[in-house]
Amino acid sequence: MAAIEAMAWTSSNLERGETWRDHAACSGRTNLFFPPRAERPQARARREAQARLLCAICPVQVPCREFARANHEYGFWGGESEEDRHLLGYTVAAPIGIRARHGR
Ligand code: SF4
Repeated sequence: MAAIEAMAWTSSNLERGETWRDHAACSGRTNLFFPPRAERPQARARREAQARLLCAICPVQVPCREFARANHEYGFWGGESEEDRHLLGYTVAAPIGIRARHGR
């Protein structure tokens, strides 16, 4: 299903003046994608698992992921946490997950 929906995002969307954000499956679900203050590691893992499920069916996962990687974003974007991006070489200033896990 995700592959079919992902194919729906094409250059024709751009021609209509739409952006990938107009098709975000997470609209209104910001709480799943950015951590609250002092979030514990177990709560973070649960929150990110829910976010990952939503990203998996999102029609704009690829442009969302590319945006986050290019802009060194915090939070969960395109199926990736900032820690995932950091480990892939798309560094953010201070990856929150890594700091929490290693006490930095
Ligand atoms: S891929 Fe995930 S974070 Fe990006 S717009 Fe879709 S649901 Fe939101």
